[in-house]
Amino acid sequence: MNRRLLAALIPLTLLMLLAVFAAVTTAAINEATTQAVGEMVERAENASEVTPLFFHTGQQLLQRFAAAEELRSPDPQVRLQELEADLKIGTFGPFFSQLLLVDGDGKVFDYYPEQDSVPELSPEESTLLERTLKFGSPERSHVFPTENGHTISFIVSVEDEADQAPRALVGRSQIGINRTVGSILASLQGPEGADSGYIIDDRDLVAFHPNQSLLLQPESIDPECSEISKIPVGDGVSVQGKACKDLAPDGTQQLSYYLPIAALGNWTIVVTHPYQAVLERATRISGQLLLILLTVMGLVAVTVILITQHLTRPLQMLATAARNIAAGELDDQVTLTGEDEVAQLGGAFEQMRLSLKDRLDDLALLLHVSRTVSGSLDMTQGIQTILAGALQATDARFARIILLDERGDPHVVVSDGEEIGYVTALDRAMARLGRGGGAVKIENIAETRGLIDPKLAGPDIQAIIAVPMRSTDRLVGVMWLGYEQAHQFRDTEVDFLSTLASQAAVAVESARLYQAAEGGRRSLAAILESTSDSVIVTDPADRVLLLNPAAAELFGADSKLVTGEPIPEVVKEKDVIDLLKAPLNDGVPLSKEVPLPDGRTFYASASAIVSGDGRSIGRVAVLRDITYLKELDEVKSEFVATVSHDLRAPLTFMRGYATMIPMVGEVSPKQKRYVEKIMVGIEQMTELIDDLLDLGRIEAGLDLLREPCRLDDIITAQVDAMRPQATTHGLTLSLGRIEDLTLVIGDAGLLRRAITNLIDNAIKYTPPGGSITVSWETRGTKVLVSVADTGIGIAKADQVHLFEKFSRIKRRETIDIKGSGLGLAIVKSIVDRHNGRVWVESELGKGSVFFVELPTGELPEAPEMVGGR
Ligand code: ADP
Repeated sequence: MNRRLLAALIPLTLLMLLAVFAAVTTAAINEATTQAVGEMVERAENASEVTPLFFHTGQQLLQRFAAAEELRSPDPQVRLQELEADLKIGTFGPFFSQLLLVDGDGKVFDYYPEQDSVPELSPEESTLLERTLKFGSPERSHVFPTENGHTISFIVSVEDEADQAPRALVGRSQIGINRTVGSILASLQGPEGADSGYIIDDRDLVAFHPNQSLLLQPESIDPECSEISKIPVGDGVSVQGKACKDLAPDGTQQLSYYLPIAALGNWTIVVTHPYQAVLERATRISGQLLLILLTVMGLVAVTVILITQHLTRPLQMLATAARNIAAGELDDQVTLTGEDEVAQLGGAFEQMRLSLKDRLDDLALLLHVSRTVSGSLDMTQGIQTILAGALQATDARFARIILLDERGDPHVVVSDGEEIGYVTALDRAMARLGRGGGAVKIENIAETRGLIDPKLAGPDIQAIIAVPMRSTDRLVGVMWLGYEQAHQFRDTEVDFLSTLASQAAVAVESARLYQAAEGGRRSLAAILESTSDSVIVTDPADRVLLLNPAAAELFGADSKLVTGEPIPEVVKEKDVIDLLKAPLNDGVPLSKEVPLPDGRTFYASASAIVSGDGRSIGRVAVLRDITYLKELDEVKSEFVATVSHDLRAPLTFMRGYATMIPMVGEVSPKQKRYVEKIMVGIEQMTELIDDLLDLGRIEAGLDLLREPCRLDDIITAQVDAMRPQATTHGLTLSLGRIEDLTLVIGDAGLLRRAITNLIDNAIKYTPPGGSITVSWETRGTKVLVSVADTGIGIAKADQVHLFEKFSRIKRRETIDIKGSGLGLAIVKSIVDRHNGRVWVESELGKGSVFFVELPTGELPEAPEMVGGR
């Protein structure tokens, strides 16, 4: 049953039980009270009928005795005998305990039984005697005490015809032993002795009581007693009494019933019953009632549970089935019999379970297949698993996969299931069918026209399905299945086979890609192995990914152990480490000459490895041994320096003698022109030789000063000095963005030379009407100088070798411009010597900007600076 319902029902049931219990208890107490009062009434009624008989009997008997002649006998003996005989008379035994004959004065003259002293009349007896003698009526007394116990007296006159002195007969009846009184009192007592019954007289004193010691105790109805209104009325009994709930002398509660005895004036019968006994009786009654009630309730509960179970069991079964299905446990069948809605729902559940189970089985199979395919690069293994899966999920006799070559012709066939010799002949037809696009279903070959020749399929195949295997739009093969019987293909079956076919295509494509990748990897590995250049590859976290054998040898590391190591753990050369870690500028490769302690020099260049989506995924550095080239360069430099030096003296002579020609005699205009041409040639050669010698000096680092220089002063002075030259060429030379007090540490003369060369080039390669702007600004610890012109510009391809010696760009616009091709090489040399960088940004036809970046210097304590002015 529903737990929440149960939880709500329990307190409700308890409350109900409590209410029922209270009602039952109240009813039981009422019933017990009614029963007890009923019994008391009955006893009191009986006693009230019997009690007057006591007095009647007493009077009757005494009157009878008084009528006897013997009492009038003068012989005392006769009278005594008569008294003795009378004393024995009574219904249940002797009624009287003493008989007395008294005279008119109340003096006793005869009495029986004998006793020591002559008895005397009590005052009440004397009063009654008077009345009896006066009126002749019999009288009776109240209860009064005597020596022998409490007594009631009856008095009658004994009349005598002889008119003797008046005399009377007194019969004393002792309450304690009178059998009639005893039976009256006995009838008033309850069966278990718990009740007490007694009688009180008109003086409100106890007259009859089983306990003699309580006689003559005052007793009356408690005026404050709570009266019990509902007194049961027995058959034919009219109730005149009053029932109360009051307190007993010992303080406990009790029920009391007071019944006046009409025949005796104000005498009253009192019957009491302890309230405790009422409660005990109520407990017995309520116990029985409760037992009956609980039995009935139990029976009702059992019936309700049985009925509920009967109603809810099918629903519970449905709930269990739904839970099982939701939890994926699909093995338990849902069996609900009957025609009602619940049974129909059960049927729907069973159908749902079966179709879900089918789908899940298919999915599990697919998962297994896809795991096998993705977990293995062996195409055949993957395809075998796929074919086995296709056979397991369908009723096909066999399954085949035809792999197509680049031209779409079958070249490999893999099969599983029953071997039927002639099906090979069908493969080609299937490959053709598979090219159509979607799955081709032949549900009954006999009725199929055109798709396939029934004779070709033979008697063993009645239905066929062919599914193309596509990998990114390329048809890599066809999977086809043959069925023994005509077969109707459900959508789920076709979907399943299509998924299997695409898995097969994945297996084929993965194997192909793997082979291609493996081939590429092998050739790359071979290239890296065989090259004499050292190659080192790092990841974005600056850890080594690869060292080729040449690099491993260069850095003295084991190429197999270095993967994942931080760069400094593998490479010790600081220049190489810097190159691998330095920030790259817009993907421009960094390069550097790296001299090694052993005398070798390497040319190292590093560039970023960029992924397809433009992210940098690491860096590759290639180091080439250029020791030989360096040596060659040095030899060349030395040769050039020597030759330049040696050429200088003859040139000086040549210039001297050429200038002297016009002085030593008449020269024709033609001779003068020749001399001028010689002079231009000599100037060019001198310039070239000066440049060569300067370059040699700068490269050798000879006479290089290192002192604080005011770069701002150097540049402004040079711009001012060169402005006339620019004006001559029809150009404006001006300062752009500039700063005061820009300091660098270095050689002021060389720095001036570099600036001069850049401005000189700008003037040379800017057509008239253009402008040249020189600017500088400090950026952090660097100062960036730029010389911008609106000249002819430099093509990207030409920018690469621009700063090399003798590099001149051969273009129509520059053919007439004189130059040695050393100007920019000198600039680079100077900037290198100052630990700076020089580069160009230029666009053909629009102009060029040459940048020089130098480290800024600190202002010395005692400024002694070199400026340009
Ligand atoms: P040159 O003595 O030929 O000027 P440089 O080394 O100074 O030699 O310059 C090398 C080449 O760079 C020049 O031949 C010229 O083609 C090109 N060049 C230099 N500066 C500029 C510039 N400001 N504008 C265009 N081309 C320039």
